[in-house]
Amino acid sequence: MENEVAPIIPKVRENVKPWITLFPPSFQGHGCPGLSATAYAICISEVARVDASIASFCLVQSCLAMLCIAQLGSEAQKDKYLLSLSKLHKVCAYAMTEPDYGSDASSLNTVARKVPGGWVLNGRKRWPGNSSFADVLVVLARNTSTNQVNGFIVNGGSPGLKISKIENKVSMRMVQNCDIELENVFVSDDDRLPGANSFQDLVNLLAFSRVMAAWVSIGIAEGVYDACQRYLGDRKQFGVPLAAFQLNQEKLVRMLGNIQAMWLLRWRLCKLHSSSKMTIGQASLGKAWITKQARETVALGRELLGGNGIVTDFHIGKAFCDMETVYTYEGSYEVNALIVAREITSISSIRPTSRL
Ligand SMILES: Cc1cc2nc3c(=O)[nH]c(=O)nc-3n(C[C@H](O)[C@H](O)[C@H](O)COP(=O)(O)OP(=O)(O)OC[C@H]3O[C@@H](n4cnc5c(N)ncnc54)[C@H](O)[C@@H]3O)c2cc1C
Repeated sequence: MENEVAPIIPKVRENVKPWITLFPPSFQGHGCPGLSATAYAICISEVARVDASIASFCLVQSCLAMLCIAQLGSEAQKDKYLLSLSKLHKVCAYAMTEPDYGSDASSLNTVARKVPGGWVLNGRKRWPGNSSFADVLVVLARNTSTNQVNGFIVNGGSPGLKISKIENKVSMRMVQNCDIELENVFVSDDDRLPGANSFQDLVNLLAFSRVMAAWVSIGIAEGVYDACQRYLGDRKQFGVPLAAFQLNQEKLVRMLGNIQAMWLLRWRLCKLHSSSKMTIGQASLGKAWITKQARETVALGRELLGGNGIVTDFHIGKAFCDMETVYTYEGSYEVNALIVAREITSISSIRPTSRL
């Protein structure tokens, strides 16, 4: 269980070419074929059907960090980074959230100070996946002159960068999430993302990654459904397969209904995104509602396996724990629900009006 992604990468490179989920969706050029959002989504959910950690590794690499460079980077930055990242010759991470700014990420406190020839970054990050072995990290930091959030491409071996793996996770154990300290980390002018001049510039990208994160939860739910179907056919109690009991059948049906509804909503969102019609609220509605349904689906699967639902040997115990992360990352259920509420009521209740 305590596997790590790093040793697997050379095998992936050798055996699975091209590994399609490593291409940022919709982006063409620099080694990337310009997959449609729907094609990418189906790939990522199929990976998650087997293992949500690998799917999350891909999501961070292609959908967050690479897409950020592809959409907000200069031509020179795309030339320099995207080809090697798309071939998995290099690994990247996306460092936005901080110990004191998780849901409230737009208030992030890592600072970037202008110096001759570049920028000096100071601050802390918490959670960025892949970062312990990333060659490059896309780091969001507040420009001390403008007070706006900017984006920087930081070399994984930069002096002043201290990265420590978060130990003892019970979910997504294969993904290496880290605490990061930046102490006077120098980034040259060439590695500041010219398209990231405020948090607002990142909002569409974050909305899109929410759509894809929800596809991860659909994949998890599908994997659990597959495993339950097999298990209920094989295991007998009271002399008949577990699949013969009506109560178990109803749970299977509820799981299947959830999966179909989740699939249709996500598919619709991909289509809206492809025609540039998806709103931020729609993306958040998908993330919130789908992860909630997926969580229920996976919990039903856990019930159906009885005691074997809580051990890792039958796939479902692990999927159950992994689902908890997807419910929270890319914006928690609650925060996404409030983003939807803001869009439909024109009243934001995300930020309290008075401080305690
Ligand atoms: C496994 C994993 C991988 C991750 N990968 C990355 C990554 O690659 N890069 C990165 O930058 N970040 C990453 N994250 C961070 C992730 O985005 C945050 O964990 C998430 O946004 C929630 O922030 P938090 O954990 O600080 O929770 P908090 O913000 O402390 O929230 C705690 C609880 O309070 C609720 N809450 C907070 N604010 C409100 C509000 N206004 N109204 C109602 N309820 C509220 C939340 O919904 C939650 O239930 C990852 C996290 C995990 C667990």
